[in-house]
Amino acid sequence: VSDPSAPGTVAGDRRPPNVLLVILDCARAKNFRASEGARTASTPRIDALAQRGTRFPRAVAPANWTVPSHMSIFTGAYPNVHGLRTFHRGEAPSETIAGWLSRRGYESMLLTEMIHLVGDYGLEAGFDRKVARRMGVSDDERTATNRLASRSDALYAPWLRDLLERLPPAIVPLNLVNHPQEVAYKREVCGTHLLEAFETWIGTRDRARPFFATFNLVDAHEPYPLVPNGHRVGPLARWYARTPRYYLLAVPGLKELVPWPELLAGYLQCIEEADRKVGRIVDALAAAGELDRTLLIVTADHGQSFGEAGNIFHGCGTTDSITRVPLVVVPPAEWSVPARVGRWTSLCDVFSWVKSTVSGRPPYGEDGVAPRPFMLSAPPTGLVFCEGAPASDPNRALRGIQTGASWNHRQIAVYHDEEKLVLNLVTGDVMRWSMARGVDPDDRRAERLDPATTEATRREFFGAYEATDLARRGSAPDTGIPGENELDRRLRSWGYE
Ligand SMILES: [Zn+2]
Repeated sequence: VSDPSAPGTVAGDRRPPNVLLVILDCARAKNFRASEGARTASTPRIDALAQRGTRFPRAVAPANWTVPSHMSIFTGAYPNVHGLRTFHRGEAPSETIAGWLSRRGYESMLLTEMIHLVGDYGLEAGFDRKVARRMGVSDDERTATNRLASRSDALYAPWLRDLLERLPPAIVPLNLVNHPQEVAYKREVCGTHLLEAFETWIGTRDRARPFFATFNLVDAHEPYPLVPNGHRVGPLARWYARTPRYYLLAVPGLKELVPWPELLAGYLQCIEEADRKVGRIVDALAAAGELDRTLLIVTADHGQSFGEAGNIFHGCGTTDSITRVPLVVVPPAEWSVPARVGRWTSLCDVFSWVKSTVSGRPPYGEDGVAPRPFMLSAPPTGLVFCEGAPASDPNRALRGIQTGASWNHRQIAVYHDEEKLVLNLVTGDVMRWSMARGVDPDDRRAERLDPATTEATRREFFGAYEATDLARRGSAPDTGIPGENELDRRLRSWGYE
């Protein structure tokens, strides 16, 4: 009775509630109605869930790309605690939701279209069953172009970038090879096989046991179809739209040639596809009679950028397009929750909501915060962080390229009250935006703080975050750094210092 984490029971039921986490890769808040976005995709199924539960229009991802962000969602800790910031293979550094629930008798299942979740980075830790098209495949091995890129220096050689800078159409041969592979890869991983596996499983499993299932759906991940909005898209623009992210970032002027509005229109269609999949998952839950006794969370691991502040897709920078994500939570039927939580909310809170619900209490109160002792984050400070890895973390080849560009700098964004601050860890600059209602900071220039204010602001808002990171690195090898010598060697071989 005194153990607060002993599983509680759901009314009229002898077992604790299920937990279902649906993560839409690359879904950004500003295109979702539930996030009060300005230009929204049609997402009737997610909107219907928001009607039944809580919408969090100020939800923030813990990191700007897949691997660190999932580790934060799964452990309830920011990257300054778990340290997973690159494609580093190893075990999860601390307890995951799946492990915690497994120890409490939950049957757990990971259903993922994104192969990084089963790529030996520790994200699959604690799951009993895994369903994915490819297991244990690193990003380097994902496509033939990536295999070539990971073994050949030529693809990132300075002479090639120089050529593309002077003659942008020279990107055409690469796009001819790479783009069809990316499209074929997305078609292979992103289908209905996960939905079918889930439907079969939920219809035949032992219903006396609660379950924990996690989906990652990559519909909203690039590449996208080009959807003309009444304009004609010329053949060259069509080619530039197929250019890999690392070239759009690395070659000055190339991204200005991409037809972004048409790409964005294609992105909205992809979000709508993801919404239909969410609907099918909900239908399967309802058909199995599990919907009313499930804590259902729909969110994203990070957003997606279409040129905002020079950012391309994700894994670079901390624009709102990348940091802010949709978040809708539907608790088991017995609990009533607020319709809307307006505070800044980190996805690091998910684990604490799970702990509270599984222990027989509502996931959170009116403020969206889990009751003590389940609360994992520190809401009294009111600070919500997102770490922006430099583009060279996920695309290692960018490491020595454009070292002065902010997209290639590690950044920490913090949201609080009506303000967003971004600390650039390379330059030491702190930028400030107003976050007054209805203002999109991606459309506005930031205020750069003067040196004296910068120092005080850094201490006040980032000091504890940085100190935790430093303490972790002091006591353990940084999981973000291994392989460094190999990278340095490769960079030197390309003529970078
Ligand atoms: Zn992702």
